Amino acid sequence: MNFQLDDFQLEAQHALRRYLEAEAAPVVDEYEAQKKPVPRHLIQAMREYGLLGGLLPEELGGFGLPMVTYGTLIAEVARVWPSLRSITSSTNLAASVLADGGSPALKEKYLPRILSGEFIASFALSEPNIGSDAANVETRAERTADGYRVNGRKLYISNGPICDMGVVFVRTQSDEGKPEVSCLLYESAMPGFSVSDLGKMGMHSCPLGELLFEDVQVPAGNLVGKPGRGFSLAKKYLNVGRCVVAFSALGVAEVAYEAAVRYAKDRVQFGRPIGSFQLVQQMVADMMALVETSRLLCYRAADALDRNAPDSHLLCSMAKRHATDAALRVAELSLQVHGGAGYTTLFPVERYYRDVRHLTIAEGTNQIQSMLMAQHALELSAMR
Ligand SMILES: Cc1cc2nc3c(=O)[nH]c(=O)nc-3n(C[C@H](O)[C@H](O)[C@H](O)COP(=O)(O)OP(=O)(O)OC[C@H]3O[C@@H](n4cnc5c(N)ncnc54)[C@H](O)[C@@H]3O)c2cc1C
Repeated sequence: MNFQLDDFQLEAQHALRRYLEAEAAPVVDEYEAQKKPVPRHLIQAMREYGLLGGLLPEELGGFGLPMVTYGTLIAEVARVWPSLRSITSSTNLAASVLADGGSPALKEKYLPRILSGEFIASFALSEPNIGSDAANVETRAERTADGYRVNGRKLYISNGPICDMGVVFVRTQSDEGKPEVSCLLYESAMPGFSVSDLGKMGMHSCPLGELLFEDVQVPAGNLVGKPGRGFSLAKKYLNVGRCVVAFSALGVAEVAYEAAVRYAKDRVQFGRPIGSFQLVQQMVADMMALVETSRLLCYRAADALDRNAPDSHLLCSMAKRHATDAALRVAELSLQVHGGAGYTTLFPVERYYRDVRHLTIAEGTNQIQSMLMAQHALELSAMR
């Protein structure tokens, strides 16, 4: 069993780290404090480093990277700017759904623009009344002569306020009149579409929105996947998304841990570095173990996805749950090691804590991941 990154992976990781340290790190605090979205040129630059379309096959304009490599890059971006990570991940999630289910004409029209960073995309599943119970979306799409008329709301949509387009999961009716979930591609410029910005706790440079569809006419050609297959498409890519979220949590946990180690060596109390006190050492050891176990589970899940292994769903749920819980705890412990300084904006730890907090909720809450894991073991579902 080989736990080392290969030369290509290390080179890609180091090139991305150099770029982010030079171009992104110096502006993160200013943008986050002023709640300004990540500048477009930084999003577009991510294309060159494999962050836009990384997992898509080369014939569709992607890089065909294995998840192990892509996850390594995701963690790298999350170390510096989780908002940038989130913008590219949501865009990629929409691109993957389009690449999987879109017609050749739809892919030709939109994929090059998404993968170049010209278009920011969103993945709109959650609604005011429908979160964990995502199969029961209420946003309706009625058939018209030349397409669909969409009415409803989508809530907590990453990129919503800045997106140019996206995939939206809607309730349609089968030919037999039964309710089903389908997926449509919308453009933000379509008449009847509007979006409002939601205030939130962290990741201020990745806007979160509520999307409103009021009699939005979507052409029939914008159907993604077969009618009624929308939810299975969403589930397929949410599984990959969970692995991405796990790597993102890993990136933040790594920098929070490293910050705590630095501070514990520098800060002197009672005439000694605080890192020499056993209770501080306990916190450092706890953080160290949480980071390392997260790393192991992230790569285990990524490897399972790359091999299309039957347990990849289970491992993605487990990696997501563990890495996000761990990152939250590590950020909290790092803040504690920093004492009062950790609570101020003089140090980045309070931002790590705020930026990582939503990860136990998004992409399926950790309670839902627990139930999926137990369902695997027990062959009994707590949900249906
Ligand atoms: C920052 C952020 C970004 C997001 N981005 C997107 C996005 O881009 N696209 C998108 O579609 N959605 C997005 N979401 C929404 C996210 O996927 C939902 O918030 C999540 O699925 C939970 O849904 P909910 O918030 O409605 O909570 P609910 O489903 O109402 O859950 C509330 C609580 O009840 C628990 N719970 C619910 N059902 C059960 C059960 N059966 N058993 C035990 N406990 C249960 C949950 O675990 C949670 O603790 C985002 C959310 C956040 C915070």
